[in-house]
Amino acid sequence: QDDIPLERGLPVPQGISKSAFLAAIDELRTLLGKEHVQLNDTQISNGWYMEHPNTHDMMPLLDSEEFIASAVVYPGSVDDVKIIVKWANKNLIPLFPISIGRNLGYGGSAPRVRGSVTIDLGRRMNRILNINADDFTCLVEPGVTFYALHEEIVRRGLEDKIWIDTPDLGGGSVVGNTLDRGVGYTPYGDHWACHSGLEVVLPSVGDDNEVPVFRTGMGALGVGGENTWQCFPYGFGPFSDGIFSQSNFGIVTKMGMTLMPNPGGHESFMYTFQNESDLAPLIEIIRPLRISNILENVAQLRHGLQTLSVKGQPRTKYYSGKGPMPPDIVSKHLRETKTGDCAWVYYGMSYGPQHIRAHKLALIDSEFQKIPGCKKIDPATLPADEYFWSRDKIASGTPDMEELKWVNWMPNGAHIAFSPVSPIRGPDAERLFALARKRHEEQGLDVMPAFCVGLREMHLIIEIVYDATDADMRKRAERCLRDMIDDAAAFGYGEYRTHLALMDQVAGTYNWNDNALMKFNNKIKDALDPNGILAPGRCGIWPKRYRNRGWEL
Ligand code: FAD
Repeated sequence: QDDIPLERGLPVPQGISKSAFLAAIDELRTLLGKEHVQLNDTQISNGWYMEHPNTHDMMPLLDSEEFIASAVVYPGSVDDVKIIVKWANKNLIPLFPISIGRNLGYGGSAPRVRGSVTIDLGRRMNRILNINADDFTCLVEPGVTFYALHEEIVRRGLEDKIWIDTPDLGGGSVVGNTLDRGVGYTPYGDHWACHSGLEVVLPSVGDDNEVPVFRTGMGALGVGGENTWQCFPYGFGPFSDGIFSQSNFGIVTKMGMTLMPNPGGHESFMYTFQNESDLAPLIEIIRPLRISNILENVAQLRHGLQTLSVKGQPRTKYYSGKGPMPPDIVSKHLRETKTGDCAWVYYGMSYGPQHIRAHKLALIDSEFQKIPGCKKIDPATLPADEYFWSRDKIASGTPDMEELKWVNWMPNGAHIAFSPVSPIRGPDAERLFALARKRHEEQGLDVMPAFCVGLREMHLIIEIVYDATDADMRKRAERCLRDMIDDAAAFGYGEYRTHLALMDQVAGTYNWNDNALMKFNNKIKDALDPNGILAPGRCGIWPKRYRNRGWEL
């Protein structure tokens, strides 16, 4: 997509005149330096993954100018962040913090409230403050990407000793991904569970005219707790970290993360299964293997169509008809791939020295082979550019970009995810797949599910790939998503994470006991952010100044 001039002009936040806003921006420039504050008043430039915009979602679901920043500010220190918070409270201007802003599929770098000022923390606050090779921990600022952390480990000659865990794409930030409770694919794939220690700037100004900054866990010890901050997440007293993930209660300026020791060997494996109806019995086989850690990583069970789409070719190469691609066409093209015609592909990895792997792999093989038609694909038969090798890299902690290829499925490829969580049970997998298929068929969309199996639950991730310039297709994608969210909630499945546009709906499904959870969140929001300046509406949490005034979608 080319650069598009802004049709609605400078997106001034609601509640302030344009002249007052511009005067406030001048004040911020004086406080932080002119070069660190940029107005967003000319055009929408989308770039691509590596040169992504920080003002809006490069994969819009709604009108491109709906979720858009009025300006971007680049703090260089915690003190700068405090200055920005003070300024926003004084002028009642909404802020939206991002670490890198590659939250694609979930809103990218867009703010929820049009005209918010984006705090791009990652541009200047991007130091790796510590890598501790004895404790296998690190401490990072918001701008450290998975690539940067991996490269630093290699630069220090520690790659044979220490692994990181990376999501499918390595360009995101360790902090942003973890705060949004993102996942990776080694045994350390639950990023939030693996973090240890936060430093947080709160969004209000205290009676002493200071903006509070505090550290969680052992970091709260008077001396700063550096020696144990990353070794023990809890410290003493209530564990406060949780309220800063998927929320709008504070700005995280440092985060500790645990790192994985090199397990002394690793081996990827891949199985294919012939029939869609193999799903339920296979999930039943996976559950005990996963809970007992024979299946050791957050592996993926992917639908055959996704195996085709990740080849990176446009859908029209295979099929130009309307509606979901017919199964016989999918089969025909899969037959021409190394994976062969199949309904499901399981990508996993076994860790440890060869003799230990052999034992676990034999157990897995004997269980998987109980499904008639199951095939183990010999990696030696796969060329170097086969997707399998990308999964191999990711599951052994090396960042990669191959996954981006399925976005090419549609022209101007954008995507949005349906991502409900369920127990690892066959009937649950079947029910979720069936409801997703029905809603995709209604909207004429291809359904491409992937089950990512955690320790006692699975995230079903279904990415709807759509043409971002096709308003009708965007509408169908949104309708499909909204229907699936409601259908799933009626069965007791909730989304683990969602796009900005769907946050109110998803938050509304977590409504047990007369919305008791949201009432609690609102109380915290009002106490910590009485002026409601920080990321209003994120995760469905609206400050008092906005609540029930028509902002909810
Ligand atoms: P950011 O965009 O910087 O942050 C995410 C959100 O967290 C922000 O919008 C903001 O609300 C909040 N936030 C960020 N920093 C702060 C802060 N310092 N203080 C307070 N709040 C903050 N994701 C996965 O988890 N796993 C995957 O395997 C995966 N695969 C993907 C595959 C493809 C093809 C694509 C396109 C995306 C995928 N994603 C995946 C989604 C996304 O790209 C990653 O999660 C990415 O890491 C998130 O972007 P980020 O790290 O730049 O976070």
